[in-house]
Amino acid sequence: MSYLKGLRCKECGTEYPADRSFVCMECFGPLEVQYDFDGIKANLNPEIIAARDHNLWRYRELLPLDGEPLTGFHSGFTPLVKADRLAHELGIRDLYLKDDSVNHPTFSYKDRVVSVALSRGVELGYKVFACASTGNLGNSVSAHCARTGYPGLIFIPRDTEPAKISGSLIYGPSVVALEGHYDDVNRLCAEIGDHYGWGFVNVNLRPYYTEGAKTMGYEICEQLGWKLPDHLVLPTAGGTLLPRVATSFQELKALGWAEGECKIHCAQADGCAPVVRALHQDLDYINPEKPKTIAKSIAIGDPADGRYVLEEVRNSGGWGDVATDEEILEAIELLAIKEGIFTEPAGGTTLAVAIKLIEQNRIKTDETVVIGITGNGYKSQDLISSRFDVDVVLRPNLQIFREWYEAQENLLNRTSSVG
Ligand SMILES: *Cc1c(COP(=O)(O)O)cnc(C)c1O
Ligand SMILES: [Zn+2]
Repeated sequence: MSYLKGLRCKECGTEYPADRSFVCMECFGPLEVQYDFDGIKANLNPEIIAARDHNLWRYRELLPLDGEPLTGFHSGFTPLVKADRLAHELGIRDLYLKDDSVNHPTFSYKDRVVSVALSRGVELGYKVFACASTGNLGNSVSAHCARTGYPGLIFIPRDTEPAKISGSLIYGPSVVALEGHYDDVNRLCAEIGDHYGWGFVNVNLRPYYTEGAKTMGYEICEQLGWKLPDHLVLPTAGGTLLPRVATSFQELKALGWAEGECKIHCAQADGCAPVVRALHQDLDYINPEKPKTIAKSIAIGDPADGRYVLEEVRNSGGWGDVATDEEILEAIELLAIKEGIFTEPAGGTTLAVAIKLIEQNRIKTDETVVIGITGNGYKSQDLISSRFDVDVVLRPNLQIFREWYEAQENLLNRTSSVG
């Protein structure tokens, strides 16, 4: 049963059928999916959802399909990890990590949006799928194309991390690396999307794609027992995730399934923080920046939906801050040492900013906090391998080991808080 009603311009409210449209003909505003919420309310409830499979399609009535999904049967429903050792370190009581670093199959939050965009794109008759990507989106489009048998075309900046390039190539798509930043890649993709009639998941399929991001919010709420946390800290790149998670919370409250007020905070890297700087300067528009940061997956200098991030952060009573490259690396290490989770710089950025919000007393010690960990550290290991080395190289001989070991002090105390 589908409750998909149509599309509606976020700016001027003009309505469109749920077809291949993606910008408003009247004002060039973005289009948003509309649902029949009365129908959803009458036929769905948390008990029904609880009995369903653990993937993002457990919320399928709130996702924009006419028929059955095509892919993503193991995507989403990632762990909400209670992080007591990290909480203790940060001096707060109730801390959770929404761990999309283990999202199936390509280890980032992008498996949510791609599952939805590809399923809808096939319903709309697209035969080739493509994307403009900083790396993770390309990985996800490549994998989901491979699984469903559709050809994929991935456009990335030339300086994308090597593991993210191979993480697309292995699935057999065409990968086009372009000179310049993501913003240049995105501009070209907008131009060629129309020309060839390909389904660019984050350009002409964007109204459907962004809906997939809501599932992170539904899950956080369901995993907390249908309660919203007091605070949620999320990274921002193009600005898809944060506003759509805000929408998901509004929908759950309108359906009467969730309670609470959640302040949503935005995290960006100091080397690319157009949204946070607009927030701090109290602007209603975004001044584009030229990215210069190790956090490449979130290095988008001219975010398509940056204005909506500002709006939702402000509406929720949240805030935002930036993290330097050094703070990002330290936070990656802290998360690994305290919780056994290895994230990429986007996750490091988010944790580093959460720490600042706690220090600024914007997050109080007795409030419930969720931090969004959106990507996996194994894809950007080169950053880490230059910081660490093995402790020693020895010949495999017991006597030699003992001589070395017994000359060390505090060798085993780096991660431990017990014994
Ligand atoms: C894409 C991405 C984000 C957030 O991007 P938005 O465009 O703001 O939705 C965050 N973290 C990682 C790891 C990503 O790949
Ligand atoms: Zn419009």
